[in-house]
Amino acid sequence: MEFISWGAAEQVTGSMHMLKLSSGYTVLIDCGLDYDNNKKPLDNDGFPFDVNEIDLIVLTHAHIDHSGNIPTIIKHGYEGQIISTAATKDLAELLMADSVNIFVEKAKKSKSKKYKRSKNEFHERPLYLHKHVMDAVDRFVTIPFHKKFEISKELSLELIPSGHLLGAASVVFYVTEDGTNKSIAFSGDIGRRNYPILADPETLNEVDYLITESTYGGRLHSKDKTIEQVLIETINDTCVKQPGRLIIPAFSIGRTQALVYALHKLFNEKKLAPVKIFVDSPMSIAGTEIYRKHHALLNEEAQDFFRKFGDEFEFDGLKYVETLKESKQIASYFEPCIIISSAGMLEGGRIQDHLYHNIQNYYANILFIGYCAKGTLGRRLLDGVPVVKINGRELSVFAGIKQTDLLSAHADHEDLMNYIKAIDKTKLKRVFLVHGERNSMEALQTNIELMGINAEIAIKGKAYQL
Ligand SMILES: [Zn+2]
Repeated sequence: MEFISWGAAEQVTGSMHMLKLSSGYTVLIDCGLDYDNNKKPLDNDGFPFDVNEIDLIVLTHAHIDHSGNIPTIIKHGYEGQIISTAATKDLAELLMADSVNIFVEKAKKSKSKKYKRSKNEFHERPLYLHKHVMDAVDRFVTIPFHKKFEISKELSLELIPSGHLLGAASVVFYVTEDGTNKSIAFSGDIGRRNYPILADPETLNEVDYLITESTYGGRLHSKDKTIEQVLIETINDTCVKQPGRLIIPAFSIGRTQALVYALHKLFNEKKLAPVKIFVDSPMSIAGTEIYRKHHALLNEEAQDFFRKFGDEFEFDGLKYVETLKESKQIASYFEPCIIISSAGMLEGGRIQDHLYHNIQNYYANILFIGYCAKGTLGRRLLDGVPVVKINGRELSVFAGIKQTDLLSAHADHEDLMNYIKAIDKTKLKRVFLVHGERNSMEALQTNIELMGINAEIAIKGKAYQL
């Protein structure tokens, strides 16, 4: 059989890997949007292989760089099914539908004369439409974790919890060819241990081949404080010692729920200053509903918390903001407050309005809790630019800029090494590295080879015999 990486090879986004059995049966593992190197959505419109070759898609988790090109492959004629956990299906539906809204919004903007004049570009069409998302949703077959699912006599698969995001999985394929059994694991994105509300990633015991993510290869997350300590300090500095506002840009799915839970714990322990908290993102409301629906997947601590205190995502002083009118009204709320809004990298979304009103405010602080890609407004602020352009106006940055990596949803170098070390070394024949930048992969490769295990950085489009 062959393994070929078609996406997230020597980069982070656009995950798309292929497992091709000797019989010709072909599985695609993830089918995500590639937005590395400033790629546009339409750059994803096409595949480097014949779509009709694909017999099955397995989706590790709902993040758009893993799921976001499924409607495109359907548009191009893919007729098969998509296997994932039920939570991944629900979150993927929400995120893919949101992608359509973003595409349509951009297409409308690109039609305007002003845009054409300024950028000298032609009308940009949406990569796919809601009908393609609906078609994708109809093709999902959901299976629980730890249940071996037989596709045929030669192929079975199993989903193993990988932390990272609600419903996220590593996938292990069990292949029988010419009387020999082999197991091939794709890690998906691996989460961190003790992450708020999410269960820890589980280790794989015995596999022959591992294709693993390497996002944080060579890097370690800070460990000197807990997220609760960082939140207490930042809230006190911003809203208690001075009458200010704390703005937290956060992805609507995953990061926001983890943050709300951490704040709820502080509230119960009476460590949270009595300030209003706005969660301003309709996507967060819909995402939180999915977290409630799949509550059984949350970690033991969250289950225990629920039994004692009820809903993790509701407490006094916390307000979910649904309508745009309510969102606009926050600007005239003059008491100290916390505003959690998306998008996390500040590219679009309601957060832009909050920045517009607060970036020139000496009493405001902006706390970044996630990664900001190069070229985004978030990255520029983290790089310390003195002036930014928001809503067409140049504004001086007087608000404080703060950052923590404690809510990063990815395993760091040490976690990745522990994930690999847990696999029976006598059985593991080879590790392929994907989903990382070159230097992260090299750091990981060196350390894996020191263990006496062959590690290879997967090259895009190259077929590896397993
Ligand atoms: Zn992910």
